[in-house]
Amino acid sequence: MCGIIGYAGAKQAAPILLKGLETLEYRGYDSAGMAVMSDGVINIQKCRGRLAALAEKTDHGQSMQGSVGIGHTRWATHGEPSDKNSHPHFSQNEQFAVVHNGIIENYQELKERLERYGYTFQSETDTEVIAHLVEYCDCGDLIRTVSKVLQRIEGSYALGVLSTREPECLVAVRKDSPLVVCRDDEAGYIASDIPALLPYSRDMYLMEDNEIVALTPGKINFYNIDARPIEKEIYHVDWDVSAAEKGGYEHFMLKEIYEQPQALQSTIQSRIRGDRIQFDGIDYTSSWVEQLTGVHIIACGSAYHAGLVGRYMIETTLQRPVNVEIASEFRYRNPIVDERQLVIAVSQSGETADTLAALREAKRRGARTLAIVNVVGSSLAREAHDVIYTWAGPEISVATTKGYTTQLLALELVAVYLGQQSGRLSQSAADALIEAICAVPELAQSALVDIAPIQQMAARHFNAKDVFYIGRGIDYASSQEASLKLKEISYIHSEGIAAGELKHGTISLIEDGSLVIGLLTQPKLREKVISNLAEVKTRGATVIAVTSMEDAKLNALADEVILIPETNPLLIPVLSVIPLQLFAYYISVYNGRDVDKPRNLAKSVTVE
Ligand code: GLU
Repeated sequence: MCGIIGYAGAKQAAPILLKGLETLEYRGYDSAGMAVMSDGVINIQKCRGRLAALAEKTDHGQSMQGSVGIGHTRWATHGEPSDKNSHPHFSQNEQFAVVHNGIIENYQELKERLERYGYTFQSETDTEVIAHLVEYCDCGDLIRTVSKVLQRIEGSYALGVLSTREPECLVAVRKDSPLVVCRDDEAGYIASDIPALLPYSRDMYLMEDNEIVALTPGKINFYNIDARPIEKEIYHVDWDVSAAEKGGYEHFMLKEIYEQPQALQSTIQSRIRGDRIQFDGIDYTSSWVEQLTGVHIIACGSAYHAGLVGRYMIETTLQRPVNVEIASEFRYRNPIVDERQLVIAVSQSGETADTLAALREAKRRGARTLAIVNVVGSSLAREAHDVIYTWAGPEISVATTKGYTTQLLALELVAVYLGQQSGRLSQSAADALIEAICAVPELAQSALVDIAPIQQMAARHFNAKDVFYIGRGIDYASSQEASLKLKEISYIHSEGIAAGELKHGTISLIEDGSLVIGLLTQPKLREKVISNLAEVKTRGATVIAVTSMEDAKLNALADEVILIPETNPLLIPVLSVIPLQLFAYYISVYNGRDVDKPRNLAKSVTVE
């Protein structure tokens, strides 16, 4: 959550900070602010609302003079979105300014202590304790001061700090929140993610927990938590900067929907070697896979839905029980996990705080852990024993699309891999799955050729009050993802329900005009779902069917039919979700919602 940017160089900082914040705004957007050092004085401008309000307030940065600065776009956790709660925050003596991403868990206790020492708080945020604590710990050297502060705060943070004592310097640090650093010929930069820094360099330093960086014009120095100098390796970014721009599309979400064929291709390429699946750096021996007693998949949001689909895949190929669990539940449940189980953590950003915490819990209990993530060098990728990147490219829209479908395909690759290594998947079954996997990118492309019917369908239903997505088996998992997609960006109430479960309660909500979208992609379950659709139709619902197999019976029952390409039943969730992503997208557009930045949400949920 939240975006941090920082600049220390020779140019005017504020316009550069604003430009970086624009790229980071998807991470949080209830308020924004900047602090710029000017003649040894810190000037802070901040306000509630979108970044545009800050740009206006500062005349696009022109009204703030100075060449060292920090900026922030907020996703409030402590204190409502307001001018005073916006970052940066001043220390009491106004000699320090701080931006923060994350949560300070012991802030209450620190606040009480600081108040006893005479500090007065201007905001309701947890962050402000850091600003005062920096002043309290000040020893005349900003690196050592920050190091002292780190010994006192608990929680998750990426911090940017300015000090009037060292007006040319910007100090930053992270723990459990992302932070990257780069430089060009004349300046140093920090940001919460790589795309914000790509205009300046392709050589990045990925900060690790408790590492401190000091930027001065032309110099970057790294330190450990004890303020001792350390060396860091460069990570070279080889993807294109245009991947993080809209490229002519009205919204990132639409662009990212269209990028799916390419992203899916990237996920599978180089992993299919002849008739086997292989992952660089992963070498599970046959005997180890064979003795596995089960698999856990832990994730949040859409990645959790990908895990639900993954369960069907892995149970089919490995023939071992797969438990799929919401990460924030798993970690507090005293889960039964040991070294004979594989724990797969799925997250687009690789920074999802709950998933990270659940992964650590699983490791602590002895399990081997595998991360499926999109962002290279992210915390999950580094902390898991093994990592599989989904290679979807940067995903900016808060509602995930290509992030989700590439997770599905990565899980399918893992399923085939585990099946092959365990010897429980026959070569002919593996061949059939591999052939189907290879065909998915092209089928996804064909699902995007003519989207006008979906757009028209959205135009007919954009003022729906409740939408129910129903399915059985793997379609139930897809229903939950389709429903989440709709509700998160359109604010229309929606549920994904197991079709057989409707009659146990939810059917009481069905009345004239309720919209029910039935997924029927599994031949074995088709007739059952048709019966469930008939039940809601009888009670007045409007029915849309999503299927790869049209027939007279379904046509007679459904008011509208969305046809998707046919493929192996285990892979069809990649294809069935595409029209439903588009449906959600256009409903959001027709309702005038902010598609890429829906209210109350943010990309990369780095708080628990
Ligand atoms: N916890 C801080 C606040 O509520 C920072 C939130 C963020 O990461 O944007 O102000």
